[in-house]
Amino acid sequence: RPQGLIWRSVMAYDETNVFARILKGEIPCRKVHEDEHILAFHDINPQAPVHVLVIPKGAYTDWDDFAQRASEAEIARFIRGVAHVGRLLGVDEPGYRVMSNKGVNGGQEVPHLHVHLFAGRKLGRMVP
Ligand code: ADP
Repeated sequence: RPQGLIWRSVMAYDETNVFARILKGEIPCRKVHEDEHILAFHDINPQAPVHVLVIPKGAYTDWDDFAQRASEAEIARFIRGVAHVGRLLGVDEPGYRVMSNKGVNGGQEVPHLHVHLFAGRKLGRMVP
């Protein structure tokens, strides 16, 4: 398989989802950062002046799947990667918001774990 989407034993991961296709190089993205383990790119429909998505290269459907199946090293690398992207973007001060939608009630549209990083203005309180 092409590098960029890392396969392990996976249940119910839809390998045709748009972020899997970005990782396989089938769909372009506006890349912010990439290393062996993560990819960060601009959201196609930005909800803030800076709206970047950070995804692990492992085939995880969502936050919970990641928490249950990823190694502690993978989890640490991902969290550090998200913070690294915040610094790369120069938004760590005055700050940013990180959010991950899980499942139908969370409003998740793409079934590959992603964290939204919003910045560039004072964000409002999120009212559920
Ligand atoms: P929601 O659409 O409710 O935010 P998600 O949390 O699953 O649901 O987020 C999916 C995000 O992916 C959306 O912000 C959407 O704009 C973005 N998106 C969808 N397709 C692409 C793409 N090809 N490139 C970049 N961002 C994309």
